[in-house]
Amino acid sequence: MQRYPHWIDGKPHPPTGDAWLDVHSPANGEVIAQVAAGTAIDVDAAMQAAQRAFPAWSSLPNSQRAQWLERLADALEDRLEEVAQAESRDGGKPITLARDVEIPRAIANLRFFAHAATQFASESHHGEAGLNFTLRQPLGVVATISPWNLPLYLFTWKIAPALAAGNCVVAKPSEVTPHSATLLAEIAAGIGFPPGVFNLVHGAGPAVGEALVTHAQTKAISFTGSTTVGKRIATLAAPLLKKVSLELGGKNPSLVFADSDWRDNLDTIVRSAFQNSGQICLCGSRLLVERSIHDEFRDAFVERVKSLRVGDPADPATQMGPLVSQAHFDKVMRALAAARDEGARVLCGGDAIDRPGWYVAPTVLEGLGPDTTTNREEIFGPVVTLQAFDNDDHALDLANASDYGLVATLWDRDLSRALRFARELRTGMVWINTWLMRDLRTPFGGSNQSGLGREGGAEAMRFFTEPRNIGIAT
Ligand code: NAD
Repeated sequence: MQRYPHWIDGKPHPPTGDAWLDVHSPANGEVIAQVAAGTAIDVDAAMQAAQRAFPAWSSLPNSQRAQWLERLADALEDRLEEVAQAESRDGGKPITLARDVEIPRAIANLRFFAHAATQFASESHHGEAGLNFTLRQPLGVVATISPWNLPLYLFTWKIAPALAAGNCVVAKPSEVTPHSATLLAEIAAGIGFPPGVFNLVHGAGPAVGEALVTHAQTKAISFTGSTTVGKRIATLAAPLLKKVSLELGGKNPSLVFADSDWRDNLDTIVRSAFQNSGQICLCGSRLLVERSIHDEFRDAFVERVKSLRVGDPADPATQMGPLVSQAHFDKVMRALAAARDEGARVLCGGDAIDRPGWYVAPTVLEGLGPDTTTNREEIFGPVVTLQAFDNDDHALDLANASDYGLVATLWDRDLSRALRFARELRTGMVWINTWLMRDLRTPFGGSNQSGLGREGGAEAMRFFTEPRNIGIAT
C-alpha cells in the first residue's frame, strides 16, 4: 500500500505516532493509499524547519527566487502525466480534465508568480512634506490550507505567491486528495529546492489545520474551503491578530437572457454547471432564465445534460466522474432528498447511479423558489436549479437572493444591461458571455459568506508581504 508522508526540510517525514489515514478511490470506494495523520508535533517540526530556512530564502535576490519557481514548474511539467493520473485517481476527476486543464494550470501558477517575483513593485508618494516610499517585505513563515476539489491547482495558487514574495511555507493539502501535493514536494526535493522553504504537513483539518493556524510562528493563513471551516479559522486567528485570506463557498447564479446566443453557448453553460461533477466553487448552480425562452432553453439544456458521459475517470471519453468521497456523496444525497421535500420537480438525474463508487447522476430541478434551502445552501455537486425571471429587476433580485457572493455569469447581448448587472450583482466576480475566464493578474475572490480578501496577481503579493512606509524630508 502506497503511503504519503509529510515532507519537512526537504525530506519525507513519517507522522509522529505512526498514525495514517486511508485514502479512497471515488470510482469504486476502495482504499488506494494511506496518508500521514499529522499532529501539532509534526506542524511544529515543519514550522521550525521553515523558520530556519527563512533568512536565506528571504534575502535571495528576487530573480533567484523566480528561477527556483521556474525550475519547479519545469520539473512538474516533466511529470505532468503522472501527476494528472494521481489527481484523477484520488479525486475521481476525469483524466482529460486533470491532464488538459488542471495540472497545466498548476504549472502556470508557478510560472506566473515566478514572473511576479521580479515585477512586483511597491508604492511611493511624493509631495506634501517630502517623499514617502513603501517597502514590502516577506512576512516570515505562512500557512496554506487547501481543499480537495482542485487539489494541485489551488495548492500552487497559494504557495507560489507566498514563495515568490520571500516567505517560507507550511502547506496542508486536503487529506481526501493528498497525492499530487506529495508528488510536488518530492519533485521539489529532487531539483534541490532549498530545504525548509516549502514544507508539507498532511492530516485531518482539526488536528493539523488548527495547529497551523494557532502556531506562534505562523504569520498569515491563506485558506480555501468551506464557509464553516473558514469561520472557524477566522475565530481562531482573530484573537492572535493573524492575517487571513479566506476563499469560501458559493451559490452562483447564471443568468440567461432571451437575446443571448445561448444555443451557441449551450455546451459552456452545461460545463459551467457540471464540470468536475459541480465540485468547483465557480460552478453556476442557480440557472435564471428569461421567461420568454424558459421552456425552450430548459428542454435543450436538459437534453444536453442527459447526454453527458458519466463514467470511469480513467477513461478519456468520460466527461463526468463520481463525487469525491462517501461523506460528500451522503451530503449531496441529503440535499436531493431535501429538494424533493421542498417540492422540486426532477427534470433529469435526481439519484445515485447504480454502480460501485460515489456517482450521482447530473441533476436538473425546477419548481423551487429563491427562499428554499435548495436555492440557498451550497450543494457542491452535479445539481442545478432552474428559475424563470420576468424582467431585469426580477432577474437581479433572484441573482442577489443569496448569502454568498462569489461569482455571477451573464449570457446577454445587451452590453449596457450586462454592465448595469455587473455593477449591481453582489459578487466578487462577474463573467459576461464566458465562464471561468482566467487571467492570473485579476483579483479573485468573493464577498459576504464567500470569503474575505482576494487572491491573484498583485493582491496575492500584497497579502504575503508587510508594508513598511518610510518618509524622508526633502
Ligand atoms: P473544507 O473546508 O472541509 O476543507 C478545506 C481544508 O481545510 C482541508 O484541507 C481540510 O482538511 C481543512 N480543514 C478542515 N477543518 C479544519 C479546521 N477546523 N481548521 C483548519 N483546517 C481545517 O472544504 P472542502 O470540503 O475540502 O472543499 C469544498 C469547499 O471549498 C466548498 O465549500 C467550496 O465552495 C470551497 N471552495 C472555495 C473556493 C474559492 O476559491 N472560493 C475554491 C474551491 C473550493
